[in-house]
Amino acid sequence: SSTRARNNRLFQSRFRVEQLEQHLELKARETMEKNQRNRILLITGLVVLALLSVIVIILIRYQRLYRQMAFMDLLTGLPNRRYTEVRAQEVLEQARARPQPLHIVLLDLDHFKTCNDRYGHDAGDEALRRFAYVAKNVIRPGDLFGRWGGEEFLLVLLGTDRNAASAVLDRLRSAAAAERLKLAPDYLLQFSAGAVEFWHGTEQFNELLTMADQALYQAKSEGRNRSCFITAKSQEQN
Ligand code: GH3
Ligand code: MG
Ligand code: MG
Repeated sequence: SSTRARNNRLFQSRFRVEQLEQHLELKARETMEKNQRNRILLITGLVVLALLSVIVIILIRYQRLYRQMAFMDLLTGLPNRRYTEVRAQEVLEQARARPQPLHIVLLDLDHFKTCNDRYGHDAGDEALRRFAYVAKNVIRPGDLFGRWGGEEFLLVLLGTDRNAASAVLDRLRSAAAAERLKLAPDYLLQFSAGAVEFWHGTEQFNELLTMADQALYQAKSEGRNRSCFITAKSQEQN
């Protein structure tokens, strides 16, 4: 009977060991599944994060592009009229705050209509684009140069006296005239310019612009392909 009792106990303890093994196996499987679930969760999270980052980057890019487009003339890549005007007024205030000479120049391509009429609108567009390109290379990076509309451009030169402004326009004149257009081989990139000099003055931007326009009209009537200079009125009284 003692043998039976021992066998019985042996059997019971074996049974317990088996139970324990099963339990451990179950636990191990559970842990594995849990790890796998965590890994899937982590990967999903990372993928979502990556997607969100991409979306945010694209949105920022587009926002920048739209903002640029709102400030830019799409044909020439120059600042458009709206932005040029805002910047010009800021530069005028700079010239007023720390008195320094300023030139506001209106430029208008000569006989541009004949370029369009003879060679077509695309040739006219090429002329505008090429003129903008040449000007960007000739003018200092800090100077403001924008498309004012049609074949008119506005140039604002801060800290520039009459001689220096005249030199800039001469450089631009010879650089532009040296260009040959593919679509309009006989059209010369020539322009007339009206410049107003401002220093210690009280004029507002619009008054200076009117003066620049008068000087431009004078340059046209004197035969085109030249620059005319006007000095702001209140400056003369100083
Ligand atoms: P002037 O020497 O007196 O300045 O004469 P002009 O022929 O240059 O000037 P006018 O004002 O008679 O003609 C300007 C022309 O510019 C008329 C218009 O159709 C054309 N134009 C305006 N904007 C654009 C444009 O973006 N592209 C093209 N191709 N032509 C334009
Ligand atoms: Mg014009
Ligand atoms: Mg013109």
